[in-house]
Amino acid sequence: MVQGYVNLNTEKNKQWLQEYVDNWVTFFKKQTDTGKVADYIPKLEEADPDALGITIIGKGGMQIRSGDLNHSFSIQSISKVLSFIVACIDRGITYILQRVDVEPTGEAFNSIMHLQINNPKRPFNPLVNSGAITVSSLLNGNTSDEKLEPLFNLMEKIIGYRPEIDVDVYVSERDTSMRNRAIGYYLLEEGYLESDLGVTLETYFKQCSINITTDDLARIGLVLSNDGIHPDTEEIIIPKNVARIAKSLMLTCGMYDASGKFASYVGIPAKSGVSGGILAVVPPRVRNNDLPFLDGCGIGVFGPALDKQGNSVAGIKLLRHIANSWDMSVF
Ligand code: GLN
Repeated sequence: MVQGYVNLNTEKNKQWLQEYVDNWVTFFKKQTDTGKVADYIPKLEEADPDALGITIIGKGGMQIRSGDLNHSFSIQSISKVLSFIVACIDRGITYILQRVDVEPTGEAFNSIMHLQINNPKRPFNPLVNSGAITVSSLLNGNTSDEKLEPLFNLMEKIIGYRPEIDVDVYVSERDTSMRNRAIGYYLLEEGYLESDLGVTLETYFKQCSINITTDDLARIGLVLSNDGIHPDTEEIIIPKNVARIAKSLMLTCGMYDASGKFASYVGIPAKSGVSGGILAVVPPRVRNNDLPFLDGCGIGVFGPALDKQGNSVAGIKLLRHIANSWDMSVF
């Protein structure tokens, strides 16, 4: 830690920090009714709209966990960060970035329009569906299971167990995915895909259906905060240059067409998913006052009631409040 500043995440302060987060979870839980659970994938509609939970894990091991934590949920679009990371590790950053750009779209995550209007010769970024589906096609392997093996391995190294696909969510998404199929055909027509379209889409639907918890998201966030190094084992899980691009993409494109607002008002790299999860990364920071988690932390949030852009309505408010009070912004 940077000398001279007091990191408040000591065991002595833990109870105070815990109570602080508990109070704000209770407060923002009341605002879940301003959002709506995703219904375009029928299985997602079964989620509890009132749920709100958060896990924060700091570099020194301090954990704050609050709210509805007994929920597991499908990772959805948050998987796009991980598939991008795996693709960069296995194929090289240059190869991947020649095929998917790193520019925000300002459009909805499942838009085709920007590709057609701007004809950019490659999808805008790996965190919108067109880019993520292209990345799924770039993963090594001939079947969806082969393609996803390295992604499962990466997750297992970070979260400590091998996560599973929620088969009901997968089937529900696969059978109702007209828009993603349309995007897939468009990408195929333009020559952006490297694998068979059926295998590519199956890979994408499966990766979105992987079950996780807020604890898992916080652990992933912590490894990213720590430049790709596992804080407990010191193992390099993600090369630093890959982690850096992943975090830049999260900051500029991670919250759909609300990414600019999130960067301005919250100011930390984050990625949301339509099941209500948010993965957030707080890098180490230098400040003049005593604050918690100065060495960096990972945050996982779950709140399935979504706003118009598809982000957890109460989750964003909670994150914004905590990030502002603890001065977590990267700026
Ligand atoms: N499975 C979702 C889809 O492509 C993922 C989208 C999301 O979380 N925004 O429709």
